[in-house]
Amino acid sequence: MAEESSVQEYGEEALVKEIPPKAADLSKWYTAACWKAELFDYTPVRGSIALRPYGYALWENLQRQMDDRFKATGHVNAYFPLFIPESLLMREAAHVEGFAPEVAWVTHGGNEKLTERLAVRPTSEVIIGVMYARWVQSYRDLPVLINCWNNVVRWEKATRPFLRTMEFLWQEGHTAHASHEESTEEVARMLEVYREVAEDVCAMPVVTGEKSAGERFAGALHTFSIEALMPDGKALQAGTSHDLGQNFAKAYDIEFVDKDQQVKHAWTTSWGVSWRMLGGLIMTHGDDRGLRLPPALAPYQVVIVPIPKKGSGESVTAVARQVRDRLVKAGVRVRLDDRDEHKPGWKFSEWEMRGVPLRIEIGARDVEQNQVTAVRRDCEKGDAGAKTGLALARLESGVCELLDAVQHGLHEQARAYLGQHRFEAQTREEFFDLLRRQAGLVRIPWCDDAVCEAEIKAQTSATTRNQVPLEGEAGPVSCVACGNPAKTRAYFARSY
Ligand SMILES: [Zn+2]
Repeated sequence: MAEESSVQEYGEEALVKEIPPKAADLSKWYTAACWKAELFDYTPVRGSIALRPYGYALWENLQRQMDDRFKATGHVNAYFPLFIPESLLMREAAHVEGFAPEVAWVTHGGNEKLTERLAVRPTSEVIIGVMYARWVQSYRDLPVLINCWNNVVRWEKATRPFLRTMEFLWQEGHTAHASHEESTEEVARMLEVYREVAEDVCAMPVVTGEKSAGERFAGALHTFSIEALMPDGKALQAGTSHDLGQNFAKAYDIEFVDKDQQVKHAWTTSWGVSWRMLGGLIMTHGDDRGLRLPPALAPYQVVIVPIPKKGSGESVTAVARQVRDRLVKAGVRVRLDDRDEHKPGWKFSEWEMRGVPLRIEIGARDVEQNQVTAVRRDCEKGDAGAKTGLALARLESGVCELLDAVQHGLHEQARAYLGQHRFEAQTREEFFDLLRRQAGLVRIPWCDDAVCEAEIKAQTSATTRNQVPLEGEAGPVSCVACGNPAKTRAYFARSY
């Protein structure tokens, strides 16, 4: 993806007729595949997309999967204001500096100029910090474990659907704790939730680790991330979890009386995943025919296409309706495409393009044999197992097994890709060469030094993605990039 395409090209992009081959131009393929599948549309609002019903259903399914896991780990949902008074935003210096270039400001209310500008939230640490200061008095009020589902605005220059838009949907979790030990555990717990959602729900393998100081969230002590690898060899940061230490508690006065009667500042965390995750899984799984959605998220897990012939039309339609009703009852998200203005072959292509994991075809012969024909979207046409006859007697269990198989199949394909594009560079030459070729995620023992990091970026456009502690080394190790003593093992790649 050399150049950034813009969602500002309102109208013009709407002329897309065909999805170009994925390997030829991932950027063009991506926007065309998302648009043609009706996930989003361009709008006259700069850098902002409309999420169409099919795209919103996909987001809702991801939201539900995450929300269930947040609740299971003790969190509750709440809501905070969209606007943040300028004076409040200014209190945490590092945070302001990091976000200032991309904050949108409200200067007028109706016809009146405001005495104080209001920031449109780029993230909510500030307003939430102010509220937590009111709600937390004693150690008995801790921990506070709150998540928010909302929208935020960041004034981005280049934009692309889901991956980078000016306004986007996300969740932001904000917690406050009595000790650093507890808040550290929380940061790790939520990173693990994100890893699980990426891998088990989105079927998208990720590497987890800590961000370098230069890539850290503005105002955080430590930032951890999950990073996925896209088909063009670029990494995609798909979720972050931040240890905010006492920085925000001190700036916004979140204080409590501890068990020992001492007044202390709380320890806070924040963590977020946006609809960017959808962009990641679309790029990861899609093919030349369009989207391939994991069954755990697909708005329709199954599409039923009846193939009526003269004389058998009624029985085929009747069986198709029974199959739909039985699957709905079994909790499967199913769509019966019985429109008569389109031929079955057209419907096959249409639902393949929109990424439906499993197609059920019902023809006259299927009806005679008391079966349906199931076709998996994760397989190539003609692969063994791509097309199977499924006896009506075991319709529900058979469909569930096939959906599991598709989920697993997509995950395995993505894991194989990551396995082939994850490198351990042994020498400086090899390291720079792999990065220049945009070969994938390249890991080295690293010095964790900003000067070394800047040199790597200047020479290759790659940045550190995340890092883990050195472990199991016999003796001291050198940084593969600069030769100074290594402190961590870090992944580098170009990124979105
Ligand atoms: Zn170095």
